[in-house]
Amino acid sequence: MTLDTEFERVSLPLQDPFTIARGTQTEAENVIVRIADEAGMTGVGGAAPSAHYGETAATVEAVLPELLSIVEAVDDPHAIREVESRMASAIGDNPAARAAVSIAVHDLAAKRLGVPLYRLWGLDPSTAPATSYTVGLDETERVREKAAAAVEAGYPILKVKLGTDRDRELIDAVREAAPDARLRVDANEAWTPREAVEKSAWLADRDVEFVEQPVPAGDPEGLRFVYERSALPIAADESCVTLSDVPAIADRCDIANLKLMKTGGVSEARRMIAAARAHGLEVMCGCMIESNASIAAAAGLAPLLDYADLDGSLLLAEDPYEGIDLTGGEIRLDDRDRAGTGARLASE
Ligand SMILES: [Mg+2]
Repeated sequence: MTLDTEFERVSLPLQDPFTIARGTQTEAENVIVRIADEAGMTGVGGAAPSAHYGETAATVEAVLPELLSIVEAVDDPHAIREVESRMASAIGDNPAARAAVSIAVHDLAAKRLGVPLYRLWGLDPSTAPATSYTVGLDETERVREKAAAAVEAGYPILKVKLGTDRDRELIDAVREAAPDARLRVDANEAWTPREAVEKSAWLADRDVEFVEQPVPAGDPEGLRFVYERSALPIAADESCVTLSDVPAIADRCDIANLKLMKTGGVSEARRMIAAARAHGLEVMCGCMIESNASIAAAAGLAPLLDYADLDGSLLLAEDPYEGIDLTGGEIRLDDRDRAGTGARLASE
């Protein structure tokens, strides 16, 4: 067999500038990976590098030739474990770059077998939770408008970014615009432990479901302080990057939030889900601002999750790839029922 590989950087403009406690982005730079077999069947994956974890589109492009040379050397799209473990040994960091290749290999393997990825894993598509839709930080009136627009578009769960001196005003505005929505909040490490405990009590009164990453990942004792006193369940995101973080957070949060761009691959994400379950944690899968080229693979994991936050492509003005149907937040894995992850070039 001869596998052909290629990659391409794409700049994806966002519908609206996206702001969290750490900063604002107006476009997402993703790197798309394609792996084709001798019959011309193509697996696609995507990297959505995050500067927070030390990656940029340039670092992804710098390591992809080595990662793809591993795919070509192994020369078997079904030898997924071999490809992933060789990539992890060759390049320990660069998880988004490795994730792109892992996704593309999974997509190609499942396409060659003629089955959707979730079916290869034996998962029941009807058990996938709905995805939340993220409302980024903005002027309070804009936040109100965005929340109203998300409700109008049918999204039943909103994830509201906080971490400002206007947090209460923002939540009040969202609650007015979306009185019936399930609300989750994400402080992206912006609070002090005491502030987090105080805000969690206030948010519990506004019927918020849980609080994500209240305090800096570098303050594990602060996370424990919050967990022991919080009125709401606590999800760990920046504190939960790779498999080895799971035991470390197990006694200081309720929910592990994993992302393919943090784990470095699809198999590692599945191992993290198993590890989190073994430690009694609930499981959430999130994303960066990503093309469907990678979101579709994360959606395939949805039946294994308690909470899904897979709106990355929904925040884009345009996406060259079409993926799993997420209209109104429902993850319809079996709607298009395509072999592989479900990602296809939108123009095809
Ligand atoms: Mg988060």
